[in-house]
Amino acid sequence: MKVVLDSLSKRFPPRGKKGKEVIAVNNFSFEIPHGKLVGLLGPSGCGKSTLLNLICGLYKPTEGEIFFGDETVSELAPEKRGVGMVFQSYALYPHLSVLQNIIFPLENLKGKDKLSKEEMKKRAYEVARLVQIEELMDRRPSELSGGQQQRVAIARALVKMPRVLLLDEPLSNLDARLRLQTREEIRRIQRETGITTVFVTHDQEEAMSICDLIVVMKDGLLQQIGKPQEVYDDPINLFVAKFLGTPPICTFDGEIKDGKLYIGKQEVMSPFDLPDKKVYVGVRPEGFVPEECGKFICTLSALEVMGRDVSLVMQNENAHTDKFRAIVDSDMPIDTTKTTVSLSLKRNKVFLFDKETEERVY
Ligand code: ATP
Repeated sequence: MKVVLDSLSKRFPPRGKKGKEVIAVNNFSFEIPHGKLVGLLGPSGCGKSTLLNLICGLYKPTEGEIFFGDETVSELAPEKRGVGMVFQSYALYPHLSVLQNIIFPLENLKGKDKLSKEEMKKRAYEVARLVQIEELMDRRPSELSGGQQQRVAIARALVKMPRVLLLDEPLSNLDARLRLQTREEIRRIQRETGITTVFVTHDQEEAMSICDLIVVMKDGLLQQIGKPQEVYDDPINLFVAKFLGTPPICTFDGEIKDGKLYIGKQEVMSPFDLPDKKVYVGVRPEGFVPEECGKFICTLSALEVMGRDVSLVMQNENAHTDKFRAIVDSDMPIDTTKTTVSLSLKRNKVFLFDKETEERVY
């Protein structure tokens, strides 16, 4: 089921005399293709949960429309939309067994959708098998690990065979290892069911690793939508460039002059078919190549061995952060007796941004 957002906005009215109106979602238009896993990504308060609540029907849009397929659902009540939702706080019923928790949403079905006890149990066992918890059906939620509870929550959301699955920060209560495992699980379950899924997270690594598409948001505004690698390789503005990538992109004050790129006074790259202008220069950590002929000279403050790669911790007076990191192959010879390192820059890893608008300069 494809999901289409058409000029969708949600404004919350001001509270009290001094309060200000909040535009939590500002004029969003995009299409989530059928069967894809889409990550909503952005810092706290950018409007991710509001957007999810609009899709599931807990909020009514101030403007715009939401379509599931070709049908508008903007006026439909949440229970009529065919949406399964998993929250950060699994919200399982503590006094019910796992089986009863999963069956619960089926008990309210009425009319032609009404199921017999046997059918409900059969469905519950089908989804339990899918999320691999069929051994745990008689336990109470308090007798499960965090990851197992999360699987029960997913099973409960899937049991009504939703047209769209919405996951709001589903992994944030899990420890690092379980998070990794569970995100792979979510990917597998999504692939097996083929249900169009929207996944909210503020963790860019998580979103990039499992999503077909990512939607980067800031202050209620859509910044960029695309395949994770495409957005990483071709960020539309400085915010998106900085938001994606670990270690983060390194940024510097720079200038285009006579077709050459300068960082401070050092000419680091040419030719550039651009008019003279001051720019911000972003370099991905894998875009630095230590070599004798490198024109960009930086202070080397530490070298961290990470197995396959080495991380060079460096400083430069034109960098926007006190220290920045380059990731290089551990085979690369680095003279650690020197306090400086000469670097060349890989052109496809260097992005320029307008100093006023912070939009990409192409
Ligand atoms: P987080 O990652 O912290 O959960 P988020 O990206 O999900 O954040 P939202 O919860 O969607 O952000 O909030 C977006 C903006 O809307 C915030 O400024 C928030 O304060 C505001 N907001 C959310 N819900 C309401 C509400 N019911 N009334 C007024 N303002 C709200």
